[in-house]
Amino acid sequence: MMCVICKTGSCSAGKANFSSFVKDAFVVVKHVDAMICDNCGEAYFDSKATTYIQEQVELAYKNTADVEVMKV
Ligand SMILES: [Zn+2]
Repeated sequence: MMCVICKTGSCSAGKANFSSFVKDAFVVVKHVDAMICDNCGEAYFDSKATTYIQEQVELAYKNTADVEVMKV
């Protein structure tokens, strides 16, 4: 899989942190399975990882481990 960001790197399986603003909080989901560009470091999440992220974001509101919520 070629990286669409830098268009020169190739991606290999690894772990990445997903972070995003969700609702009124900044959510970080750690150690998510991803394809990571060996050139620029861009992480790509497949549908399975995306589902996992969504589950973790929901759980974040219930104070479950592996997720940090920073209220802004
Ligand atoms: Zn790249």
